[in-house]
Amino acid sequence: MSAAEGGCHCGAVRFVVEPPVNAEEAPRTALCHCSDCRRCAGAPVVGWTAVASSTFRLTQGTPAVYRSSELAERSFCGHCGTGLFYINETVLPGLVDIQTATFDDPGAFPAMAHIQAAEQIGWMKSAHELPSFDRFPEF
Ligand SMILES: [Zn+2]
Ligand SMILES: [Zn+2]
Repeated sequence: MSAAEGGCHCGAVRFVVEPPVNAEEAPRTALCHCSDCRRCAGAPVVGWTAVASSTFRLTQGTPAVYRSSELAERSFCGHCGTGLFYINETVLPGLVDIQTATFDDPGAFPAMAHIQAAEQIGWMKSAHELPSFDRFPEF
């Protein structure tokens, strides 16, 4: 893995993740179905990539921080609203969880698992079976 850059929609906040120096620092990825993620993102599921905080660096801007629970901080761009990072030193010590879709190349971080599936929206279980259109359907 080479250095991976990312940022919010408007470009005010940019970050970089340096390649891990050992296997323990390798990013871990998941699609989270918990209601906190869903509501904070306004989306039915949120992709996350957890990286060692030692490999993570902001390169531009300062995200706004929202304390979404007693132990968790969620960062987002205060200008465009893009959800960016989740930090919880109790549950995820030494890690920065990055919303996977904010990487310039999110395809480089394929999700390894669904997590918090107990809170999954019912219709998400069969979402992969829906008809698919390259653009919009013709009604
Ligand atoms: Zn922004
Ligand atoms: Zn979640």
